[in-house]
Amino acid sequence: MNAGIFTLDELERYSRQLIVPGMGLEKQELIRNARVCIAGAGGLGSVSAYYLAAAGVGHVRIIDRDRVEASNLNRQILHFTPDIGQPKVLSALDKLENLNPYCRVEAVQADINEDNAFELIDNSDIVIDALDNIGTRRILNFASIHSRIPLIYGGVEGFSGMVSTFFPYRTPCFECIFSHISDDEERKGVFGMLPAIVGAIQSLEAIRIIMKETPALAGTLLYFSGTNMTFQRIAIERNPHCTVCGTSPART
Ligand SMILES: [Zn+2]
Repeated sequence: MNAGIFTLDELERYSRQLIVPGMGLEKQELIRNARVCIAGAGGLGSVSAYYLAAAGVGHVRIIDRDRVEASNLNRQILHFTPDIGQPKVLSALDKLENLNPYCRVEAVQADINEDNAFELIDNSDIVIDALDNIGTRRILNFASIHSRIPLIYGGVEGFSGMVSTFFPYRTPCFECIFSHISDDEERKGVFGMLPAIVGAIQSLEAIRIIMKETPALAGTLLYFSGTNMTFQRIAIERNPHCTVCGTSPART
């Protein structure tokens, strides 16, 4: 298989990952051809977007409705103090384009809802759930599963975090495992290191899927505790009565 032509600048830029065992230009070409949609330009999305753009993902679509606030800056590493008041997606676009001009960044300032979710994730290879509220996560999950696009979930709270990868109709989806959680969510406290860890794991899982490696978190919920620095792999199963992906969705 012939990899497409890379410029000398690209080869230099990616040189440290190109020499990783098992990597090479063919894998880098897969990365360059990938289209990743990141829902949320906050703590998780900043980190995912940064590392995916830096790794050479050819197309990143980043979606967020909000503007940068001072209270974001303890964790949302794409936004700096002079960006306060700017739409987050434009602040993100500016940083990502400066980071890697070979990455085409599409900034979409939008509130993800039932009417636009399918269109917003359309034509993506992978969707990253970097959202901060359960209601929108449910909508994103519904659209991703029905569009048959893998969804990489990440969540943080306090000193803990969780990650899982949902392959439509093959592994559990968000609704299979979180149907009992209510949509109302109060604002929870978080240190910036937690979304950094979880967002980095989400982007690592994404890059491995893009490179056609076996995803490590399919059917697994990875739970990280930052208080005792442990990772726990929790096996999760599809719910046959899941309202989104179940085989008999008539739920009582
Ligand atoms: Zn499901």
